[in-house]
Amino acid sequence: MKRVILFLVMFLLSGLVCGAVEVVYPRAQNVTINSGSTFFVGNSDSEFKINGQTVPRNNKGAFAYVVKLNVGENVFTLEDSVKKQIYKITRPAPKTYSGTPSKQIDFTDYKTVMTAGDTVPMRSTPVDAGINRLSVLPYGVMLTASGEKNGFYKIILDNQDAGWIAKHSVVDIKENPAANLKGYDYIDTDEFYTFVFHLDKKVPFVIEEGSTMVLKLYNVKDNSPYTMEFPYAEASGSKKLYGYSGEFIGNDFIWKIRKPLKTDKKHPLKGVKIAVDAGHGGHECGAISCFGEKEKDINLLISKDLRTELKKRGADVYMTRTHDTYHGLKERVTSANEQNSVILISIHGNALPDNLDPNKNSGTSIFYYYDMAKPFADCILKEMTTQLGMNNDKVRQASLALVRNTNALSILIEVGYLINPDDSVLLRESDFQKAAAHAIADGIEKFLKYQDE
Ligand SMILES: [Zn+2]
Repeated sequence: MKRVILFLVMFLLSGLVCGAVEVVYPRAQNVTINSGSTFFVGNSDSEFKINGQTVPRNNKGAFAYVVKLNVGENVFTLEDSVKKQIYKITRPAPKTYSGTPSKQIDFTDYKTVMTAGDTVPMRSTPVDAGINRLSVLPYGVMLTASGEKNGFYKIILDNQDAGWIAKHSVVDIKENPAANLKGYDYIDTDEFYTFVFHLDKKVPFVIEEGSTMVLKLYNVKDNSPYTMEFPYAEASGSKKLYGYSGEFIGNDFIWKIRKPLKTDKKHPLKGVKIAVDAGHGGHECGAISCFGEKEKDINLLISKDLRTELKKRGADVYMTRTHDTYHGLKERVTSANEQNSVILISIHGNALPDNLDPNKNSGTSIFYYYDMAKPFADCILKEMTTQLGMNNDKVRQASLALVRNTNALSILIEVGYLINPDDSVLLRESDFQKAAAHAIADGIEKFLKYQDE
């Protein structure tokens, strides 16, 4: 009986004393994770074990602990001096592949289809790989499909070029996709070279960047692809391209190329319009750090510090959000364009999929899409790694919404990994956030100062 009472008292106590271990991932004690491994991420101020193994923590108590998952239910017992927590993680059995053919099928009768969404990626290969995007098409573009593979239609562009579009993003139509091009206008302003092509239908397009820019409009009657070459370097006297966009307004296709930025070498940021985009916000929290902070909040803090740094150096800063509010990706890009931003910096914190190890991934990475933004990304990463001592997690090319079609030099900075124990300690510190903003501002300033050398 005494034993039972003692047990009861201990049980009650363990319920009252909040366990020293705070797990932020997995997000619940009963979850399904479709991966061969996952990780426990969190913090603890005292020693604890997972299934009998002591979990290594850094000097601030942060941890990330990788566990293997078998198909079916996996039980993990987290135990410290006061409390036991049971996690049940179910890994589903792998699905067998079914659906569309994985071998290419050629249609005997070509199909006409039309884009059914507003941002439909046209790809160079029948894979959803991001970087293979040729362009992003708006609603209502008519296309000719000559075959299919892997759930993608093969789209005829011309004799040499083909594109691939996911079948679920188009609908069948009966209309002839060929469009009439009635002519174009050319507008030369202080900041942009602009072409307006008057079509009677929306057509697929591709823009190739370089010292000569090339626009191809496909499905143009009697003249497909309609090709316009614009000798950017010759016209502007600079090979530095600052941004361009191609979009339909009604059936008019607007091709806008930004002219090179003239900078004052002594005050390179003076008057330069810069958009700072704090990633996520509102109901979209982003990643969660080892200490439970939300990525959206850390992004906003660093972004505000960056605004302060840039303003100090004379820049004209626009923020896509200044509070904890939700904004869609397209809305962020549109608002930066409307503000006529020359530079767009999107601030994020990184996380990882279940199958990777948060202890082996750390540091700063910068994403760009257009080739023109790579030297800019290199310059900023160099400042961040040298000034902050961050691991160089590389400059990478990726087709992310915030670095595409922005009329600006655009990059997305993953300042550090929120789920890496050591990075998570830094990211929550206001001194580090200010130092990161300072390094980014230095990187921008140096790029503008030395860009022509
Ligand atoms: Zn993010």
